[in-house]
Amino acid sequence: MIDYQDKVVIITGGGSGLGRAAAESIAAQGGKLVLVDMNKESLEESRKEILANSKDASVEIVEANVTDEEQVKNYVQFTLDKFGKIDGFFNNAGIEGKQNLTEDYGSDEFEKVVNVNLNGVFYGMKHVLKVMKEQGYGSIVNTASVGGIRGVGNQSGYAASKHGVVGLTRNSGIEYGQYGVSINAIAPGAIMTPMVEGSLKQMAGDDWEAAGKEFVSVNPMKRFGKPEEVGNLVAFLLSDAAKFINASVIPIDGGQSYKY
Ligand code: NAD
Repeated sequence: MIDYQDKVVIITGGGSGLGRAAAESIAAQGGKLVLVDMNKESLEESRKEILANSKDASVEIVEANVTDEEQVKNYVQFTLDKFGKIDGFFNNAGIEGKQNLTEDYGSDEFEKVVNVNLNGVFYGMKHVLKVMKEQGYGSIVNTASVGGIRGVGNQSGYAASKHGVVGLTRNSGIEYGQYGVSINAIAPGAIMTPMVEGSLKQMAGDDWEAAGKEFVSVNPMKRFGKPEEVGNLVAFLLSDAAKFINASVIPIDGGQSYKY
């Protein structure tokens, strides 16, 4: 059912965490990848890891900052020049930002987080959707968060941006379904990636591992999610097997967002 032979997928935030995990899953199923990230070294590292596991994989890397619309246009054009089409787009690059009460949440910090998590996702959709509409096919997965569907606290910029990603997903999903394009968002809970490690360190300093155990003790599954679990979900959602799923937000959080 899930077949990525001759499929071309762009992944932003492809140098780390969820982006890298999705890339691994799609490459293992024969997909051709364009990995985008602002961190060139981590992109090289992703390519190395993917080729170690899938030696015939096709992995292009593009250094770009998703907050710069010209650089977004550039990674889209690079993909078209190289492969002539875009089948899937994992619009995923994001940052958490510093945690603080709303009154203490810096306005600069708010702007910075929204710029990456929301503007970056919007620019990506805008330029990729133009191509997919002309093609008459394509799938997009935007990375939201449980912080995009529930109140989490201490994360004004993150919450605003991720709720915004959910809004963009629903709005564009309704616009582009008629052109054969599906657009969905994922809402991951706590998945153990460098971002979550950084977040625990912000909260607990050297005791971050103990804080992590306590954090997941309230999760119905009593553990962090694994990046590959999210990577496999994204690989499914971007495949032809998931074509009729559109404008949806899919939590992947061990059930935590349904617990009160
Ligand atoms: P990560 O920090 O491991 O990876 C994020 C990647 O995005 C990094 O390689 C970073 O260099 C890149 N990036 C950041 N800003 C960028 C920019 N302006 N331009 C280009 N690249 C940029 O984090 P992750 O956990 O893999 O997070 C990926 C996405 O998943 C983010 O949108 C994050 O908000 C979301 N998310 C993560 C979790 C989790 O628990 N890990 C939960 C919910 C949502």
